[in-house]
Amino acid sequence: GQPGEKVSDPYFNGKGPDRTGCIHCGACMTGCRHNAKNTLDKNYLYLAQDLGAEILAEHEVIDVRPLDNDRGESGYMVQFKKSTGNGKLKKIETRNIVFAGGVLGTVPLLLKLKQKGSLPDISDMLGGNVRTNNESLMVVTSTDKDHPDYTSGVSIGSILDIDKNSHLEPVRYGKGSGFFRMMTMPSAHHKWALLRIAGVFWKMIKQPFRFVKTLFANRYSSRSVILLFMQTLDSTLRLKTGKLRSLVTEAESGPLPSGHIPEASKLARKVSAKLNGIPYSNFYDVIRGTPTTAHILGGAVMGKDPTKGVIDKNNNVFGYKNMMVCDGSMISANPGVNPSLSITAISELAMSRIPAKDMESS
Ligand SMILES: Cc1cc2nc3c(=O)[nH]c(=O)nc-3n(C[C@H](O)[C@H](O)[C@H](O)COP(=O)(O)OP(=O)(O)OC[C@H]3O[C@@H](n4cnc5c(N)ncnc54)[C@H](O)[C@@H]3O)c2cc1C
Ligand code: SF4
Repeated sequence: GQPGEKVSDPYFNGKGPDRTGCIHCGACMTGCRHNAKNTLDKNYLYLAQDLGAEILAEHEVIDVRPLDNDRGESGYMVQFKKSTGNGKLKKIETRNIVFAGGVLGTVPLLLKLKQKGSLPDISDMLGGNVRTNNESLMVVTSTDKDHPDYTSGVSIGSILDIDKNSHLEPVRYGKGSGFFRMMTMPSAHHKWALLRIAGVFWKMIKQPFRFVKTLFANRYSSRSVILLFMQTLDSTLRLKTGKLRSLVTEAESGPLPSGHIPEASKLARKVSAKLNGIPYSNFYDVIRGTPTTAHILGGAVMGKDPTKGVIDKNNNVFGYKNMMVCDGSMISANPGVNPSLSITAISELAMSRIPAKDMESS
């Protein structure tokens, strides 16, 4: 549609809510305030509610047990509580259950339920085959006074294929998104932490005025471009419940993901030269040398049997009836690019195999 112009829902033949044409403010990452982005509350959740589904926001599922001590043939008892503030534990009974809590919601919950005996027969593959997009997230902040306004456009509008394994997406944040800088440090790479930190100080000492300009810059997001570098190269981690922390990771296969990907750093230097800027990385990458990911995948992956995965090719959990997993934890490979549309498509396919209620009763 035209920027700022309201039209009736263009995606579902008018069944969804009205939408407004995008005004290219660049704030898609922090939530569209202009009724333009196709978010869940405007499509799946809106349409489900319209068909009578009740959505309990801010509630956390803490237990799921088969009724009648069977494998879920009669259904499940689901226990949940308010996730904000205090509240009483509540219970419901259901015949079918779909886990869709994302990798960091579904996998820890299922690990806990397997361990405490609520769902003991879930495959031992649970927690395994966790992948990232082998990402490197960097920010280049321009030191130029007359820099272009980098907030103008949608958050991700282009992708550069660097080789058959690697892609780079320039990402925008909207005006006012300056907090991001608190999570960054000038990029410095070395296998030893001390030398990385020395590298950060050396960069600050070498160019103090340019450094201060980017650190205390007004309109930070207008002068910054985020570089999201992703690779299909594969390695896996395992998520486990820990003694001191609720969740721990360990290396499972392939090289450990690294906070330093030389190809990504080279690109960041090239972009910095063009923007007359300074490249920054997430402070965790610099201090710990471990990479940050926004694209965690796997942990309850598809496989041909319970020795290979947690769910079958139709998303049904091995060992139980009427139970599915439909979220990023089902993904059993590294797509090397942003995964949410693959998660959506596979979940839609799984849902399309469930007969509609009125068809079932007829
Ligand atoms: C900053 C950022 C930017 C991103 N940008 C992109 C992008 O541009 N394109 C792209 O394709 N992907 C992007 N991603 C990745 C994408 O958001 C995820 O891959 C995708 O949302 C995962 O979908 P999911 O359904 O597995 O889980 P989620 O979207 O995480 O949904 C899981 C939901 O379950 C809830 N939940 C968890 N545990 C429980 C529980 N016990 N009880 C009840 N509810 C629970 C959570 O609160 C959450 O609402 C981005 C991610 C981040 C962090
Ligand atoms: S750029 Fe993104 S946040 Fe801004 S109006 Fe368009 S969809 Fe919404």
